[in-house]
Amino acid sequence: MLHPDIKEVLYSEEEISAVVKDLGAQLTKEYEGKNPLVIGVLKGAVMFMTDLSRAMNCDLELDFMDVSSYGAGMESSGDVKILKDLDTTVDGRDLLIVEDIIDTGRTLSYLIEIFKYRKAKSIKVVTLMDKKERRVVDLEADYIGINVPNEFVVGYGLDFNEKYRNLPYIGILKTEVYE
Ligand code: 5GP
Ligand code: MG
Ligand code: MG
Repeated sequence: MLHPDIKEVLYSEEEISAVVKDLGAQLTKEYEGKNPLVIGVLKGAVMFMTDLSRAMNCDLELDFMDVSSYGAGMESSGDVKILKDLDTTVDGRDLLIVEDIIDTGRTLSYLIEIFKYRKAKSIKVVTLMDKKERRVVDLEADYIGINVPNEFVVGYGLDFNEKYRNLPYIGILKTEVYE
């Protein structure tokens, strides 16, 4: 049943699943014979990462990084902080950064700089969603699931004030929820 705070479902569970399987197949080819370190950016990318990694038919390792560029609400502060670092050494590794959505691009450009500094062998980015219209940093993901309109979306890992992450679909909130 649809959550009462959701105005509209943009992508259903089935649509998301098809996109994730397709990305998984592409990444299986990309990393054939390699052992990439798949880095999930907490917490938004968790659902996507667990589904995507199961759609990747190759050896890989999982790790997580938690950074914050957003406050409690919907606005990017532009000020990126590491809240949890990787457990794994990046030096010489093939890295796949897994993002839920690229908006301004600030979080990702910060992560890429860190991993270059730490001497990663290669760095690729896969994002479930891309909100190109909002970009302030010149940056492109290597693999993009869905190009989304300039709307604040929730569900499938994405939150508003920590809520709605567990919705199996991606949707937009009714305006009265955040106004
Ligand atoms: P950035 O602006 O740095 O590209 O985006 C950083 C993070 O903000 C994203 O990875 C995501 O977690 C969050 N974010 C960006 N756009 C949205 C959105 O439409 N909905 C939600 N829930 N989070 C978003
Ligand atoms: Mg994110
Ligand atoms: Mg958030």
